[in-house]
Parts: sequence; structure tokens; C-alpha cells
Amino acid sequence: MSEVLNGRPVVAAIQQGIKLEVQQMKDKGIIPTMGIIRVGNRPEDIAYENSILKHCEGVGVMTELFLLEEDIDMTAFVPFVKEINENSSIHGILLFRPLPPQLDIEVIKHLISPIKDIDCMNPISLGRVFEGMQEGFAPCTPKAVMEILKYYEVPLVGANAVIINSSSVVGRPLGMLMLDQKATITLCHSKTRNLSDVAANADIVVTAVGKPQFFGLEYFNENAIVIDVGINECEDGGICGDVNYDQVSQKVRGLSPVPGGVGAVTTSILVRHVIEACKKQFKL
Ligand code: NAP
Repeated sequence: MSEVLNGRPVVAAIQQGIKLEVQQMKDKGIIPTMGIIRVGNRPEDIAYENSILKHCEGVGVMTELFLLEEDIDMTAFVPFVKEINENSSIHGILLFRPLPPQLDIEVIKHLISPIKDIDCMNPISLGRVFEGMQEGFAPCTPKAVMEILKYYEVPLVGANAVIINSSSVVGRPLGMLMLDQKATITLCHSKTRNLSDVAANADIVVTAVGKPQFFGLEYFNENAIVIDVGINECEDGGICGDVNYDQVSQKVRGLSPVPGGVGAVTTSILVRHVIEACKKQFKL
């Protein structure tokens, strides 16, 4: 039976650190604040927003919500985002994506300054991750994976890590973060040959293909640490990961659950980014 790499204690540890920093800032008269921009009423955005609001409230981070009509056009949207970006009382900005088709993400992604870009939207932020620079904000999901590995003291130096995802929000930046820690990384995708053989040789396997319970026993060895990033709706209507949890948890050394694993940690990373952004803006 494997160790359950639960996200909740990781969240608790991050929150404890945030609370301390928020108090220190408040003592100096600074209130760290996240600006959240939502266009329309997508249920996924609202669910994520609710979890962020709850999280922020729990640690004393302020939030300001900017709700825009689904049919807003570029002429109205661009100056609106620029204004929020220039608002000195907002220290970190989250813009829910995907945006409606009339809003050109190729233009919009440059509007949030890297210093406020807590969700790694601006290509400058992603570029910094690829340069191995520590000053930018990496995407929250890869950072959540790294935080889980750190919390459970999974050694990365020299480890053979296989990431089954090559997207720019998960696989590619995660590869860079693992490389920074001297892991040997393999990025896999839908055209990878003999995927089960590749994965079964790894010390660490990260799955993020978005296919419910896709990965069975043949993908992992007994010593593997498995981090399941997938969030899927399963047949019974509940949420499940990419890994067949019941089977694989009988075999591997450690496995993160879904729900209660990476997703839980992702929000706390986002909130921690607000603190870091705020510190940078006040040169603390
Ligand atoms: P995406 O852009 O669709 O990327 C999926 C990746 O999986 C692609 O690299 C794709 O390969 C690869 N893939 C798909 N089927 C495969 C197969 N049969 N074998 C090997 N590789 C395969 O999705 P995403 O935005 O990165 O998200 C992936 C999953 O992570 C989703 O379930 C999403 O809900 C979840 N997610 C979770 C969090 C969190 O906080 N926990 C955050 C973001 C996303 P190709 O490139 O060749 O198509």
C-alpha cells in the first residue's frame, strides 16, 4: 500500500507561512490584495473563484472582484485591464481563462506586468521559468507539484522524472522546475512511443492527460512516486484523476489523490504569489 501524498497538510504548511507574512505586512500598514477579473459566468471559473475567496479570507489576503459581461469587446476590455494593472492597491492579478473568442489572448497576455502576474500569463513570466530565473511567477500547478514533492521529501537530484503532458501550463514549466532541482526529465505526449515502458522506468511520474483513470499498473514500478494532476469527471459523476487510484495505490511507493492532491495545493500557491508580489512592490 502506498503513502498517500495528500495535499491538505501541504496547504496547511503554506497557509501558516502566509498568515505570518500577512500579519507582518499589516503591521506595516500594507494589505496584500488580489484582483480577480472574470468575464462571464462560466461555472468552472465561479467554482475556482469561490475557492480562492475562501482561501484568501482564511489567511487575511484581500480580494477585489472585477466582473465583466460575456460580450465585452477589446476596445473596452484592454483599457480596463490596463487600469487594474496600474492600480497600486492591487498587488497580484488573476484573469480567468479561457476568454470568450472576441477577446484576443495574444494581445491580452502582455497587459499584466510580470510583477503582478501571479498566474504566469505574460510570456515574460514563462520565459523567466525557462531561463531558470527565480524572480518570476511560475504557473501555479507545476509549483504545486514541486511543493508536494518537497513536503514529502521526495529526492529530486539525479531522479528520473517522467512528465506525461507537454502543455505550456503544466508539463513544460514543470520540466524546467524539476531541471532546476537537477532531476533528469522526460516530457511525454500523445505521440510518445512505448509510454508504459518509459513511465515504468521512472522514479517520479507526473500524469496530466485529462483522461479519467487512464493509467493502470503497467505504467509504474513499485518504487515510483506518482503525482496525479488530472482533474476529470468520472462515470459516477464525481471527480477523479488520470490514475486508476484503487489499483495503483496497491503498488507504488507514493501517490497523490484526486481530489485532495495537486488541485488543493494550487490555490494556496496562487495566494502565496500575491504575498510575494506585494513584497516585491514594497521592496520588502
Ligand atoms: P492539455 O493542454 O490538453 O494537455 C494534455 C497533454 O496530455 C498533452 O501534452 C497531450 O499530448 C497529452 N496526452 C493526451 N492524451 C495522451 C495519451 N493518451 N498519452 C500521452 N499523452 C497524452 O491539458 P492541460 O491544460 O495541460 O491539462 C491536463 C490535465 O491537467 C487536465 O485533466 C486538467 O484538468 C488538469 N489540470 C489540473 C490542474 C490542477 O491544478 N490540478 C491545473 C491545470 C490542469 P499532445 O500534446 O500530443 O496532445
